Amino acid sequence: NLSERLESSFKLLKGQGRITEVNIAETLKDVRRALLDADVNFKIAKEFTKDVKEKALGANVLNAVKPGQLMVKIVRDELAQLMGGTAEEIDLKRQPAVILMAGLQGSGKTTFSGKLAGFLKNKKSKNPLLVAGDVYRPAAIDQLKVVGEQIGAPVYTEEGNKNPVKIAKAAIKEAKTKGHDVVIVDTAGRLAVDEDMMKEISAIKDAINPHEILFVVDSMTGQDAVNTAKEFNDRLDFNGVILTKLDGDTRGGAALSIRKVVDKPIKFVGTGEKLDALDVFHPDRMADRILGMGDVVSLVERAQEQFDEEQARKLNKKLAKNQFDFDDFLGQIQQIKKMGNIKDLASMIPGVGKALKKMDIDDDAFKGIEAIIRAMTPSERQQPNIINGSRRKRIADGSGTNVQEVNRLIKQFAETRKMMKAMSSGKMKNMMRNMPQ
Ligand code: GDP
Ligand code: MG
Repeated sequence: NLSERLESSFKLLKGQGRITEVNIAETLKDVRRALLDADVNFKIAKEFTKDVKEKALGANVLNAVKPGQLMVKIVRDELAQLMGGTAEEIDLKRQPAVILMAGLQGSGKTTFSGKLAGFLKNKKSKNPLLVAGDVYRPAAIDQLKVVGEQIGAPVYTEEGNKNPVKIAKAAIKEAKTKGHDVVIVDTAGRLAVDEDMMKEISAIKDAINPHEILFVVDSMTGQDAVNTAKEFNDRLDFNGVILTKLDGDTRGGAALSIRKVVDKPIKFVGTGEKLDALDVFHPDRMADRILGMGDVVSLVERAQEQFDEEQARKLNKKLAKNQFDFDDFLGQIQQIKKMGNIKDLASMIPGVGKALKKMDIDDDAFKGIEAIIRAMTPSERQQPNIINGSRRKRIADGSGTNVQEVNRLIKQFAETRKMMKAMSSGKMKNMMRNMPQ
């Protein structure tokens, strides 16, 4: 991982006081290689390392407590700067605010339309109307209807109407009469940039005069994403970029290249297929991700959102007193499941992404565990030490598992309990102190 490499190559510099062209050369090579690995465009990587070099040459290593960390900071700040510095919101001031989606087929427009509707509903107390502007495939309209239903947002469609310009105009009229303050227009894409698609989306733009045109792009397409972004921007002059499929190990170098090439802010990132897998784009966090630190802050935020604070407080008390029981364990499993795809979440933890790729975890992983806990009586759940041999047999039969599985769970539970007690009593503080700042 790049930040580790930077730190180690810079440890050597500590005694030398200043960063010089000679002693920085290897490190800069590392930086450039890491950027290329992360899908950053070659020219941009080269320019970037030049900027970092200039900043680093001026820095005083002697005064820095940890020169390696200083270098990480220079690179991180420079990356964040390049991606826009701060997070940018979407324009919702007008009534209704009209948002138009643009992008290739399969980039994630329909999914993102749903995610955005959910975000605006839940976080901004808006009342969005979704508009089915991908009229050529009946399946596309159905897909948006399903998404709208899941989010709880109505979908405007016109049976048999194959004119997306007219549909979009009519939808905005409908939004005004029905009091929707946001209109999200989903559109048709094609597999590659072509004139028909561009004509259509331009015509929709001219007809409805959207306040936000969001260009949706699949971050896994790497350098192609940059070219596509440029072509759409030349035609539409869009307001912001949505990077989808930034799940797991996709390293996000496309973010950097796109920002640099079209000079438009990235506003959101999609991190999974589920409709809550959406994060506001934070340049500093993306910089961390490119550096290989993992997007810990987004992870923590997402977890906190789902976590009932009251329950957390109670749980902490129980943990400290070593009273954590199987009911709490079951509650924890439910919380984790609520958080969405575990793999999405866990892959944001530094170092975990790669490991997970090899190991196939899914939500079903908890099925057996849940069944076993549900087969326990309340007193067994609260006082696991009473679960003797005959009780284990009964629980195994009741849960459709076997005694070995029950034994394994009870053992795991005892270990978890021990670990959680330790964590709640100070060891956690030590762990936090050692995390990258
Ligand atoms: P559209 O053709 O632009 O409307 O794209 P869709 O919204 O239909 O998405 C295409 C495919 O990508 C679908 O299978 C989605 O579930 C998937 N998808 C969309 N966004 C994400 C994302 O952020 N992560 C992942 N893993 N899949 C996504
Ligand atoms: Mg679609």
